[in-house]
Amino acid sequence: MEYSHRYPAYPTREVAAELEHHIDVHRQAYNYTLYEYEHVDADDIGSAYKHHYRLPNWKDEFPVFSEVNSKALQRTVTRFYQNLDGLSEQKQNGRKVGKLTWKSPREFQSMTFSQSGFELKNTSGRRATLWLSKIGDIKIRYHRDIPDEADIKEVTIKKETTGEWFVSFGLETDDADLPEKSDLDSLDARNSVGLDLGILNYIHTSDGKTVDWIDLEDEYKRLRREQRKLSRKEKGSNNYEKQRREVAKVKRHIKRKVLDYQHKITTWLVREYDAVFVEDLNVKGMLEQSHNARNKQDAAWRQFITLLEYKADLYGCHVKQVEPEGTTKECASCGVETAKPIWVREHSCPSCGFECDRDANAAMNVLQRGFSELGLGWPKSTPVETALPTDTHSVSAKRVVETGSLGA
Ligand SMILES: [Zn+2]
Repeated sequence: MEYSHRYPAYPTREVAAELEHHIDVHRQAYNYTLYEYEHVDADDIGSAYKHHYRLPNWKDEFPVFSEVNSKALQRTVTRFYQNLDGLSEQKQNGRKVGKLTWKSPREFQSMTFSQSGFELKNTSGRRATLWLSKIGDIKIRYHRDIPDEADIKEVTIKKETTGEWFVSFGLETDDADLPEKSDLDSLDARNSVGLDLGILNYIHTSDGKTVDWIDLEDEYKRLRREQRKLSRKEKGSNNYEKQRREVAKVKRHIKRKVLDYQHKITTWLVREYDAVFVEDLNVKGMLEQSHNARNKQDAAWRQFITLLEYKADLYGCHVKQVEPEGTTKECASCGVETAKPIWVREHSCPSCGFECDRDANAAMNVLQRGFSELGLGWPKSTPVETALPTDTHSVSAKRVVETGSLGA
């Protein structure tokens, strides 16, 4: 399977200038590919593979193209053809699309080294160095290990509009090297978990854990402050532009912090359990009248589920989305439905007397549905006792971040 890891990069001033120069040469190469594609009639134009054969001539004609890594240069030509493919795909889907246009420096901020011309070295702790051909060494914050069995296929280095640098490693792990998932028959309530993704920022598990969200209060305070400053600037002025970048920077920071946190929780889940069940948000969205806040949270949960699903393969865990309708109303013990207003935090079943936290009840329902949707039996006589923990406890976000584990 293919996936990617992204890391903040900290080039020195000299190396950053060099990177910018290289990216600009790649931008010119991209534009020149477009030019040739549209204006030159030749047999070796029309696919990335053929177009690569024109590069030696380019270099004779324009020495600037010799200044960058030649494999990376090929990759930029390929990037043009990929964009072209993307365009025709959109067209086929009935979308109205323009044609590819020349890229201005603002629109072209990255380059990709493919197969060679790069080396990841000195990986120790949370630091590492990326070496790029014709450029040199770049320090990166290596906050996640690249698995030993993964091949690094390519490396993309990008400058964000905020001025920050990032490298992204395109990785591939042979399916044969992926851990085997346990037999479905061997799943039981003890090695599986159902999740209730809260309307607010909580995750409840069917075994009684509450995972609270990261605290972003300071970040949001800062965002509001920067936005207020922006509203006082004159639109179009230099100061306005500068402030707009400040706002973008805080937003990006928040987004990254959330993603980082989701990485930690999803990794914990797929390591800890053999199977993880979540509600199908696509169905859920249709069932519920969506409010703005809810939509926003949905986007975050969708990203969470996407991460969960791709890690499921990497760590050999089953992940399944289940029918979400009525998970809150239904009693996890006897199945009888009771309407519950949102402010009622306790589940107390009028039919069988089962009592527990509202969201824990929902999470247990998600777990049971997962089992029945997989066609697995569930011990009918003791549906709740099996899954129910002896006592519930909350796990703080801080602990996940510090220890990388939510273990009890
Ligand atoms: Zn009941």
